[in-house]
Amino acid sequence: MKLGKENWDVIIVGTGPSGACLALEIVRQHKKVLLLEKGRADISINIPKMLKNKEMMFIGNGKTLVRGIRTGGTSVLYYGTSYAPPAGLFAKFGIDLSSEVEELKRELPLAPLKDELIGPTAQKIRDSALNLGYAWGKLDKFIYQDLCAPGYFPYEAQWNAIRYVNDAVELGAVLLTCSEVTRVIVNGKKAVGVEATVQGERHKLYASKIVLSAGGLGTAQILQASAINKAGDGFFCDPITIVQGLTEGIEAGNEIPMAAGMIFEKEGFVLTDLTLPKLVYQLFSVQALRPNRVWQHGRTMGIMVKVRDGIGGSIKRRKVHKVFSEADKLKMQQGEGKAREILQHAGAKRLYNTVWTSAHPGGSARIGEVVDPNLKSEYDNLYVCDCSVIPTEWGLPPTLTVLALAKRLAKHLL
Ligand SMILES: Cc1cc2nc3c(=O)[nH]c(=O)nc-3n(C[C@H](O)[C@H](O)[C@H](O)COP(=O)(O)OP(=O)(O)OC[C@H]3O[C@@H](n4cnc5c(N)ncnc54)[C@H](O)[C@@H]3O)c2cc1C
Repeated sequence: MKLGKENWDVIIVGTGPSGACLALEIVRQHKKVLLLEKGRADISINIPKMLKNKEMMFIGNGKTLVRGIRTGGTSVLYYGTSYAPPAGLFAKFGIDLSSEVEELKRELPLAPLKDELIGPTAQKIRDSALNLGYAWGKLDKFIYQDLCAPGYFPYEAQWNAIRYVNDAVELGAVLLTCSEVTRVIVNGKKAVGVEATVQGERHKLYASKIVLSAGGLGTAQILQASAINKAGDGFFCDPITIVQGLTEGIEAGNEIPMAAGMIFEKEGFVLTDLTLPKLVYQLFSVQALRPNRVWQHGRTMGIMVKVRDGIGGSIKRRKVHKVFSEADKLKMQQGEGKAREILQHAGAKRLYNTVWTSAHPGGSARIGEVVDPNLKSEYDNLYVCDCSVIPTEWGLPPTLTVLALAKRLAKHLL
């Protein structure tokens, strides 16, 4: 295929949940779709490699941010929990995602875990929280539960965007991995293509429509390089800490994370049980200066505190920076307090908090500021569809939301 000679109907940049879902919707309508993905197919967790390729990065004051640069995007690393889109936030812009969410519920394995699949520490935490009077409910998961058994949770049981990428490719979409888009090519006020390094070679690729789905950081960087300078001026990233303690008498360490939890809407944080993958647990123990805990994965129970941080900081091509406000720190403190109360009541001992990390960068190309309610940018034919368009801080895992946005955008483009 002569790359520069093709004229695609749609070029989609990024294969996370939003890009993958959009590609599938569009190729189903027999359009010529090119998917450009900076990373490659890889489901491993290799911390040194993740630091090197900026999947894990420091964003200021020793705090880290994690995302996926691989086929399937960050969903390859995620915990498969689904929260409904923030209807009120979108309604202000005349956006209603309810029919798209219904479609997704029919397509995807979205349901709370069956009781027998809830792991022993998640169950203990849930009993403790309920006993203390908290409305600690089961969470919807993106999990094919018939592939799991108590204590058995194979990687392929969790839905991720690789499935949509594969389906799109099967229907004729072209996927180029190791292909980094650097900027959008603009003619007057019209976007006509992208510049990309495809497997080491520079290319100009042309399409009738271009959609940036490169994630909360990647999209803002491409927009800036394309002279849309408002992008990346502030973002949220939902910082988290995990309060962890030691437990006796149960085999911990190998269970489905985020089985149940509670949203503290007014206070601005959410709590859920969280058993980390062993390698990540060990890294976090070292980072929190608890080397004695490195080998205690099988005795550890933890609650994740995730905070709704305000929009702030900046995303530049070479640097992503965010200093959390006093209000964000206060929310975290309150969340930690509740997590400690629940864990102590559950009998956990020697509690400590992990260092803050973040997993949901977004709000960096906000609807109403950088894109319009149809997700169109100031250039004709250039759209954004991923976490960056979320109009303000929200504080909850966004995968279902970006999938619904992708389905909605597909209808608009077709
Ligand atoms: C540890 C962890 C746990 C999580 N758990 C949950 C959860 O339980 N539930 C939930 O809803 N969410 C969770 N998330 C967040 C969720 O995975 C992301 O919000 C979601 O994947 C965002 O989708 P996206 O399509 O917007 O972006 P991404 O999934 O980040 O995809 C962006 C894609 O664009 C590619 N890209 C970037 N720049 C370029 C470029 N210049 N050129 C070409 N390609 C580029 C990237 O390689 C990537 O593949 C979690 C995240 C982490 C890190």
